[in-house]
Amino acid sequence: MAWDTLAVHAGRGDLRELGVHAPPLDLSTTYPVPDRAAGTEALEALASGQASASNPVYARLHNPTVARFEQGLAALEGATDAVAFASGMAAITAIFMAMRSDGAHVVAVRPLYGGTDHLLSAGLLGLDVSWVQPDGVAAAIRPETSLVLVETPANPTLALVDLKDIVAQAGDVPVVVDSTFATPVLQRPLELGAAMVVHSATKFLGGHGDVLAGVVACGGEFAAKLRQVRVITGAVLHPLAGYLLHRGLQTLPVRVRKAQENAQVLAERLASHPMVLGVRYPGLPGQDPKGLVGTQMKGPGSILAFEVASQNHADQIMASVKVMTPAVSLGSTDTLIQQPAGLTHRIIGDAALLEGGIQLGLLRVSVGLEDPEDLWNDLCQAIEGPQLAAAK
Ligand SMILES: *Cc1c(COP(=O)(O)O)cnc(C)c1O
Repeated sequence: MAWDTLAVHAGRGDLRELGVHAPPLDLSTTYPVPDRAAGTEALEALASGQASASNPVYARLHNPTVARFEQGLAALEGATDAVAFASGMAAITAIFMAMRSDGAHVVAVRPLYGGTDHLLSAGLLGLDVSWVQPDGVAAAIRPETSLVLVETPANPTLALVDLKDIVAQAGDVPVVVDSTFATPVLQRPLELGAAMVVHSATKFLGGHGDVLAGVVACGGEFAAKLRQVRVITGAVLHPLAGYLLHRGLQTLPVRVRKAQENAQVLAERLASHPMVLGVRYPGLPGQDPKGLVGTQMKGPGSILAFEVASQNHADQIMASVKVMTPAVSLGSTDTLIQQPAGLTHRIIGDAALLEGGIQLGLLRVSVGLEDPEDLWNDLCQAIEGPQLAAAK
């Protein structure tokens, strides 16, 4: 099946047989176990990380609606398995916990999502972290390194990291890629040698700003470890969220491509606006020096960042947008605009902000599905202020 067909049909193969058109939503917390011995067997199988059993037994062990979303996402990432969690951070935490038995050292390529950076620097998981730039992975690997974590496109700088190069530098150490910004529509890290792909499914996969979720796509062995962590810690995804995410996958390719078209238009126009100091978008000339758009990534995506001269000006823009929503998060149907230094990346501290090139006047835009002319007019009036916009 072609990939776009998979997006519509994966995880739905048995619906005709069931005599339904939409997947059933199973909200049970517990399941009848008339045959105790069969129940014991199922419970042991699920608790040791098996994907399914003859009986789900209890909702922390398994849920059939969530499993459908997992099958769909696994198909789109070219993975055998996927494991869903209550949030992106729950998924990322589960990866660290699952891999810890292989060694307490991890190599983290900066910049990372603010929450991930905070998780690792807070010392909560007792991990020994080496913070590196993309070219420093090989030198940081030790015998006790359990994983390398990398994010591309990076947040909020939109820098692209060469995943084949990271995989080569990591050698035998599994590489985990946070591919939230790219989605499987634009990038499939497992095909490039990564061991696991993690998504904040809250973003593009859900796509409508109404589901908090995370998911990891990987091979069977890693998946079993992750399911064990999920059973033990209880970071499970609610079945309604699983249902909505599975539905979201059907329109994912269409949404991602339309948002990307809009982002390209806005990025080009922002780049020639006199009050904008700079634009970061991999689809602009000179911003993809390694030529990764068209190879590693099918397109530049729909997130861009632009810089204005001051925090005050950035604040004014966030307060003045009318079509765009001034809010954190990304990947929604509507366009979201936010100031990373004051919001999403506040937690990582001033030194790391500066080092990561996250200026006070930087605004990140997650471009949505609106008409691009409405978005451009909205941005112009917000950037220029009422007087300038009226004088035009
Ligand atoms: C939002 C986000 C996360 C965290 O996901 P939550 O669903 O908010 O827990 C992790 N990585 C990236 C790149 C994100 O954008």
